[in-house]
Amino acid sequence: TYIVNDSCIACKYTDCVEVCPVDCFYEGENMLVIHPDECIDCGVCEPECPADAIRPDTEPDMDKWVEFNRKYAELW
Ligand code: SF4
Repeated sequence: TYIVNDSCIACKYTDCVEVCPVDCFYEGENMLVIHPDECIDCGVCEPECPADAIRPDTEPDMDKWVEFNRKYAELW
C-alpha cells in the first residue's frame, strides 16, 4: 500500500486524488490520507505529488504512517 506522510500538510494540490482509480484518498485533519486497505498499490499517485508526501509502505519505519493513514481514513 501507499501512504501519505506529513509533507502533505497544508498542500493545496489534489492531483493525487484525481488520478486514484479506486478513490481511496480521504481528508485528515490538515492533510490527505490513503486508506491502506483500499489502496491497490498501483503507484500512479506517487509522481503526482509535488511535496513527495506519497510513499510506499515498503520503506523503513512506515508502520506508524500506515496506522496514521488508517485512523483518519476510517473516520469517513
Ligand atoms: Fe490510489 Fe494507486 Fe495511489 Fe493507492 S497507489 S492511493 S490505489 S493511486
